[in-house]
Amino acid sequence: MGTVESVTGPLELDELGVTLIHEHLCFRDEATAIQWPHLYDEDALHAAALEAATGALAVGVKTLVDPTAMFGGRDVRLMERVARETDLQVIACTGIYTYDFLPHHWQTRDEDAMADAFVHDIENGIQRTPIKAAFLKCAADAAGVTPNVEKVHRACARASLRTGAPIMAHTHPGSGTGPRQMEIFAEEGVDPGKVQLAHTGDSDDLDYIERVLDTGAWIGMDRYGIEMYLPTERRNATVLALLERGYADRMFLSADSCASIDWFSEEAEEQLLAAGAVKDWNTRLIHDKVLPALREGGMTDDQVATILEANPRRWLTR
Ligand SMILES: [Zn+2]
Repeated sequence: MGTVESVTGPLELDELGVTLIHEHLCFRDEATAIQWPHLYDEDALHAAALEAATGALAVGVKTLVDPTAMFGGRDVRLMERVARETDLQVIACTGIYTYDFLPHHWQTRDEDAMADAFVHDIENGIQRTPIKAAFLKCAADAAGVTPNVEKVHRACARASLRTGAPIMAHTHPGSGTGPRQMEIFAEEGVDPGKVQLAHTGDSDDLDYIERVLDTGAWIGMDRYGIEMYLPTERRNATVLALLERGYADRMFLSADSCASIDWFSEEAEEQLLAAGAVKDWNTRLIHDKVLPALREGGMTDDQVATILEANPRRWLTR
């Protein structure tokens, strides 16, 4: 059936099993972490990643896809350590997570040079380890597809064409970025079936979502628990409507949870939690709360298996 690279080596695709397609074992700014390491408690970060992994395993998840790229503090050694300690299968990516900014290094080099770096991670290994990336990551957010964002998309497209690796693109449905992102991939010659548009489920506008599906891309209904973008009930209603329209074989369910994240001060984090801006935002949420509600709404066992097992396998096939 073919194999896919994990942080502990290649896996047979049919060994993937139940897969969460979008969860982060750690999310932080690598520049800040390198310059001011005293601001971070590495033991606490490790413990949080371990808890995310064991939580996923406890609800029956076998594989976690971690799309942390540049600017998210991608650390494959931490991913490998947690995978070895728990037996959770973890899949890593390469790419750049930026809404616009690029450092001088990448401003003065072209898309092909950037693609070379991505291909290195896929073919040789990440961060001087033998751990290989299985997919590519890029992003567009509220600022839209700026020239820098477009450059990263074209580099991901070219690396995908050279290696067969699929692409996950962070999108911002609020500003309708998905279709424009797909235009760039199409211009570069990427098969739309290789592309997953993450965060499509932040919208419950079925017209927008069907426009995205019409491009041929996969959609990520993948931010369960981030209530401030869209509450769980509305995410569920959208998923059920899409299931009714026959899209089970085109979507993913995940939470985009971060075992730890450095975006907020302690006070801000407490305020967000108190305000209910995020709720149950962890690797157990899909199984503990979302699937029971979706099943009550009519989702079948077949559809669950399609979304959590068959779709990840198909998207990750090179
Ligand atoms: Zn994410």
